Amino acid sequence: MSDSDTPREFGFETRAVHAGAAPDPHTGARTTPIFQSVGFVFDDVDHAQSLFNLQDFGFIYGRITNPTVSVLEERVANLEGGRGAVACASGHAAQQLALYPLMESGDEIVASRYLYGGSITQFTHTFRRFGWQVTFVDPADEAAVRAAITDRTKCLFVESLANPGGIIVDVERMADIAHEHGIPLVVDNTLATPWLHRPFDYGADIVVHSLTKFMGGHGNSLGGVIVESGKFDWFASGRFPSMTEPTPSYHGLRFAETFGDFGYTMKVRADALRDLGPALSPQNAFYILTGIETLPIRMERHVANAQAVAEHLEQHPAVAWVSYAGLPSSPYAELAAKYFPKGPGAVFTFGVRGGYDAGVQLVENVQIFSHLANIGDTRSLIIHPASTTHNQLTDEQKIAAGAGPDVVRLSVGLETASDLIHDLDQALGNG
Ligand SMILES: *Cc1c(COP(=O)(O)O)cnc(C)c1O
Repeated sequence: MSDSDTPREFGFETRAVHAGAAPDPHTGARTTPIFQSVGFVFDDVDHAQSLFNLQDFGFIYGRITNPTVSVLEERVANLEGGRGAVACASGHAAQQLALYPLMESGDEIVASRYLYGGSITQFTHTFRRFGWQVTFVDPADEAAVRAAITDRTKCLFVESLANPGGIIVDVERMADIAHEHGIPLVVDNTLATPWLHRPFDYGADIVVHSLTKFMGGHGNSLGGVIVESGKFDWFASGRFPSMTEPTPSYHGLRFAETFGDFGYTMKVRADALRDLGPALSPQNAFYILTGIETLPIRMERHVANAQAVAEHLEQHPAVAWVSYAGLPSSPYAELAAKYFPKGPGAVFTFGVRGGYDAGVQLVENVQIFSHLANIGDTRSLIIHPASTTHNQLTDEQKIAAGAGPDVVRLSVGLETASDLIHDLDQALGNG
């Protein structure tokens, strides 16, 4: 077979730049235009009806679809190796939209207890008011994960690389456990990005992201996305009437039957996004798309800088410990070698000698690092979780989430590594 007979499988870097996009057919514009329009004209009444009935694909109204946002959805689905994606206004919106099609009031979620602090709050307080019950478990304790799953459990939810503790979850084992029980594994892949780790390669069924972080990568736009692998068998599971039974708001349509391996994506868009409403603005989609084009080279530098800073801190007299899976001392070094061969991200924590007060002092002394509540920016960022992001958790929850009083979190940016080290050294003093 000659080379031209086999469709070429493009590399990740090529797809990060091109997937989902083409020159604009009307103007020749080479970057994806910002289609700042809420409505889209129908060809005629038949066309309008077929769009509304989901018999045809096209643009109706900006809460459900938008051409700029669609390019972003296709690009992220491609990079994750998924079948379809729905973008939305933020990472938190993505979590809600991802779970909404799976859950009824009274249903349960089994979640890793090592989640982003805001996610623990969302799951514990807000989801409970929807009647969704959440059981938090240590994902390393497989017996506990299994024991937490009941007849009403509708998914297992983990972060592939957990913020803020630098914790790596064994995604393949979690997928096996979820599938033994006929439920999907949902993975928040925000800290990893598909450049460092792709959960679908290890059996995950649904991936969510805060695009706000490394994906957009410049700290300028909120966004979120839900991606479907297309491999979960809703009929075999039998636990999801919302996917397999007729939907009253769509004339009795069965999503898993009509749309097959992208039925969940359609359900997320047509039910959850349409009715809950957290649409992504086309302007933000444009910024995030632009960011994704440089994702591979940015992540390489993020990881190299994080490794250099972590190694330096580990031998610093004012530092008690460093929790970065790129260090041989990390209990996650082995899982990192399997799941993160290009490096375990650029967000990690360390402990300052002197506890809470020393942590507060450090964040006040840094000059290049910015003291703020975000991660995944080009700029290096620092925060003391106990006094900020994790402040609303109980002391017990703080420690369980890796955010005790001495903990400082870094999101290492793209500056010169020696400048970052110099800044931390001057802020830490002589220890
Ligand atoms: C930031 C973050 C979220 C929430 O995303 P927003 O875009 O801020 O809503 C969820 N999960 C992780 C791991 C995050 O870092």
